[in-house]
Amino acid sequence: MGCVGLLRGPREIFGGEIPRLKKARVQDVSNNSRLRGAEQRVFNNSNQRPKLKRQPIFWLWPPEVNEDPRNKGPFSVTSYKFVINLTKDWDELPPLVPASDSGSSPAARSQSLSLGHGTSFCSLTSASAPTMATFLELSTKAKMPIVGLGTWKSPPGKVKEAVKAAIHAGYRHIDCAYTYQNENEVGEAIQEMIQEKLVRREDLFIVSKLWSTFFERSLVKEACRKTLKDLKMDYLDVYLIHFPQGLQAGKELIPRDDKGNILSSKVTFLDAWEVMEELVDEGLVKALGVSNFNHFQIERLLNKPGLKYKPVTNQVECHPYLTQEKLIQYCHSKGITVTAYSPLGSPDRPWAKPDDPSLLEDAKIKEIAAKHKKTTAQVLIRFHIQRNVAVIPKSVTPARITENFQVFDFKLSDEEMATILSFNRNWRSCIIPGMARLEEYPFDAEY
Ligand code: NDP
Repeated sequence: MGCVGLLRGPREIFGGEIPRLKKARVQDVSNNSRLRGAEQRVFNNSNQRPKLKRQPIFWLWPPEVNEDPRNKGPFSVTSYKFVINLTKDWDELPPLVPASDSGSSPAARSQSLSLGHGTSFCSLTSASAPTMATFLELSTKAKMPIVGLGTWKSPPGKVKEAVKAAIHAGYRHIDCAYTYQNENEVGEAIQEMIQEKLVRREDLFIVSKLWSTFFERSLVKEACRKTLKDLKMDYLDVYLIHFPQGLQAGKELIPRDDKGNILSSKVTFLDAWEVMEELVDEGLVKALGVSNFNHFQIERLLNKPGLKYKPVTNQVECHPYLTQEKLIQYCHSKGITVTAYSPLGSPDRPWAKPDDPSLLEDAKIKEIAAKHKKTTAQVLIRFHIQRNVAVIPKSVTPARITENFQVFDFKLSDEEMATILSFNRNWRSCIIPGMARLEEYPFDAEY
């Protein structure tokens, strides 16, 4: 009858529940390169679906998800469990009732099966999968995929493959920064993925950051244009102020005097913000955000006379040893999302010491992970999703990149969430030595 549903990564997504899927012949394509190619074509078509006169009606989503996952933002393309081999004639197909719909008539069901030549599809019902949020809605109404790929310390030479592996695995949110000194390679990877028609620019959510030495009016736009040029893009989805402290302009990222003291600047983040607002007006940036801001600094920004655009996110360090409860609560109360950086504790940070605490080695977190048959990293990532916090784990290892994205198929219980929150010890992995002496240091405030 030719009814073959292609299921993306079914083992991971359904946790071995495939035999319980009903009403379809399901083919596991995860180990079949020929079919993976087919899957990819479907994927492209799915991306183009807004152009279709009629939306496909045979999307599968877990029964627990009440909301139509098609509303769930760019990520939803990869979270569809069922993909349809769309053809160019899709719009010509007669309307169908999903075969899984208990109210569908036998006629409709047989119609769905008989359309198996050229256009293969069928409807599936899944036995179990927890509710998942795959994006956060920003105050601009844009949708920020809740899991993104971090790129700090991802060296040129490795970052390109990492970004490509991430896009293949389903990531659509990439966290970049001028200071990571790899935006050119990140841009190359994205370009290749676009040229291969795996994604379109508008399916991606690209974040970059203005570094502290570029707060001066004349430098803000130059810095943004440099980032755009390297990324080979004509706009960013969000441009963040990387750090609230202004530093003396110049070639050095951390300018210092002869004695090694860091040199600050009188130009403030409020000055920079005004120019960043112009970037939005000029279409170079869709939205603005901040990073490493405490709530006093956000408050000052929100109260800035003539403020035109509010920050849409505050990207801060966040994990079980730095749970940021008050800051998250404050940001959410102001309609500002929070993005968690260093969610795995940044084990590859250059200043790591052997005695520093290690999240990935935490026996209690390992225990929770084992209970869910998940890895510690997956629990550390899932922890944020359940708090409506975006999370951007970094890896240059393809297997880990995939692993870090397989976090939508399990749920930590309320008790487990409370236990993880109790691990807080206000420990920061990310502190730039010497900055604490300067004005506007953000980490002295309680939150
Ligand atoms: P993370 O907490 O994401 O940890 C990254 C490290 O964990 C790497 O050594 C990586 O190794 C390893 N790792 C990744 N996945 C796994 C896994 N599944 N199992 C075991 N180890 C794993 O650290 P980052 O500090 O990089 O934070 C993430 C991102 O947040 C940054 O890359 C950056 O984009 C952003 N960030 C923003 C800051 C800001 O000031 N706004 C500051 C710091 C970070 P490997 O790569 O070798 O696989």
